Amino acid sequence: MPRGKRTGGLYRALRAQVLAEEDFCGECRLPVDKTLSGRLPWGPTVGHLIALVDGGPMLRANMQLEHLRCNVAKENRRRAQRRRSRAATPSREW
Ligand SMILES: [Zn+2]
Repeated sequence: MPRGKRTGGLYRALRAQVLAEEDFCGECRLPVDKTLSGRLPWGPTVGHLIALVDGGPMLRANMQLEHLRCNVAKENRRRAQRRRSRAATPSREW
């Protein structure tokens, strides 16, 4: 994704800031063990309140600490929502 590449440095800096400032998951409100690997379900990750693909800004205010599993669940929910709204507005012009 070219957009992700361009904002990569900024994202890394903001992500480090979120990890330093927050201790609780923004989704389930449980504490996040930041010593765990970010690849584990209960490990720490940083997510966006409004997804970038939905027009959310790359700002600290739009980011929060989340468990990886909560982040994945949120993304799945959003993907299903997008699919539904696409299905509701058919736009095939060829
Ligand atoms: Zn969580």
